Amino acid sequence: MSIPLVTRFAPSPTGSLHLGNARTAFFSYLWARKSGGRFLLRIEDTDVDRSQTRFTDELIKDLRWLGLDWDEGPDVGGPAAPYSQAQRGDVYRGMYQRLEHKGAVYPCYCSAAELELSRKLQRSSGKPPRYAGTCRALNAAERADREAQGLRPTLRFAVPADVIIEFVDTVHGPQRFLSADMGDFIIRREDGTAAFFFCNAVDDALMGVTQVLRGDDHLTNTPRQLLLLDALGLKRPAYGHVGLLVGADGTPLSKRHGSKSVQEFRQRGFLSAAVLNQLYRLGHTGDHDGWLALADMPEHFRPEHLGRSPARFDEAQLLHWQKESLGRMTDAEVGAWLGAAGDTDFVALVRHNIVLPADAQPWIAAIRGELAPLGEAEQRIVAHAGPAFFRAAVAALGEAGQDWKLLTSLVRDHTGRKGADLFMPLRVALTGQAHGPELAPLLKMMNPATARQRLEVHAQNP
Ligand code: GLU
Ligand code: ZN
Repeated sequence: MSIPLVTRFAPSPTGSLHLGNARTAFFSYLWARKSGGRFLLRIEDTDVDRSQTRFTDELIKDLRWLGLDWDEGPDVGGPAAPYSQAQRGDVYRGMYQRLEHKGAVYPCYCSAAELELSRKLQRSSGKPPRYAGTCRALNAAERADREAQGLRPTLRFAVPADVIIEFVDTVHGPQRFLSADMGDFIIRREDGTAAFFFCNAVDDALMGVTQVLRGDDHLTNTPRQLLLLDALGLKRPAYGHVGLLVGADGTPLSKRHGSKSVQEFRQRGFLSAAVLNQLYRLGHTGDHDGWLALADMPEHFRPEHLGRSPARFDEAQLLHWQKESLGRMTDAEVGAWLGAAGDTDFVALVRHNIVLPADAQPWIAAIRGELAPLGEAEQRIVAHAGPAFFRAAVAALGEAGQDWKLLTSLVRDHTGRKGADLFMPLRVALTGQAHGPELAPLLKMMNPATARQRLEVHAQNP
């Protein structure tokens, strides 16, 4: 039996939940559940300009739709409440004081323009741009002078000189960074709000998080956060950084690849089981290849098999899991998903011919609507059959009514056509499509007058 672990998802509510973030949330969830531990949701909303409560509401909805649940969070409470960082100002104040007493921080009065100029100078002399430490050496009088001018300082963490920071990344293995390569970084913004490096690390420690899983883009932030935790005397969680999600072209998933938000997939009719089965296999190799129900995923999750290299998202694979998921649903469930609850004949007819609800449109049109104009291939099929074929079909329909078997045998007797030459033109004329569900039940659902009209159109000599 493993030790119960505490994992978390810590999104910034600055936009919709994307597949990449949903994946790290999901892996963290699986890891907690596998170990019999706890999974936390924490909202990182200290950036007041970019955070919106609308996004918090949406991402909670998206996570719930995926089927995830959490043991602590803004909506469920918990022992470390509050779980929205914007409400944790008091907690952070105590921590700033702790650092001030140790002399580990100092106020920085540099303006954005001054910082930009300094970065430019460093770049032009071939050095990586970092804070030059200008305000570290200010004495009390110099600080008072700047305060008197009405300047509002940020608070910077004074990175200790010549320290080696080592940790074992749970995905990348041993890591080694030099403090000499880091500039003093901001832990409190000018407006008094807590900056990411600080509140993210502090809260992980205070909330008892044991395993942080996040995207590779955060790997180089970790040594800074470890310095902070050490200075505060807080316990380090284990950090793991997973390879980013990339599009089919190998570049990180972004707007260029289409929205790729969870919401978009939900709106298109993807099933949460399909999305989860896809995410489960992006940068992770579990010990089970086939489709899994969410309830069975924790057991098969292998945190030691999380990938370092970028994982490629390919919608074709998602469609595969969509088919697998649909195949496991009852007719009633498919009906509800299609918005055709109770229409059992229709659901039974089309469910094996559709992957997304939009795919049902042609069959809805075939049964109750207007057919779209024929495509080129379909026109050729109809033309090849010829008007005499359709005259025979109209006559046969008069006799057979909605009995497909009888209809086709009458047409065969009158025209001598069989196989595809017999069925294809009838299918195209009646449904507008060269493929699709069984015609016998479809014909029964169609209005007989409509069926007749659709055959008559092609029975006229051109
Ligand atoms: N709020 C951060 C983000 O969304 C959290 C990073 C982390 O998981 O530590 O990128
Ligand atoms: Zn400064």
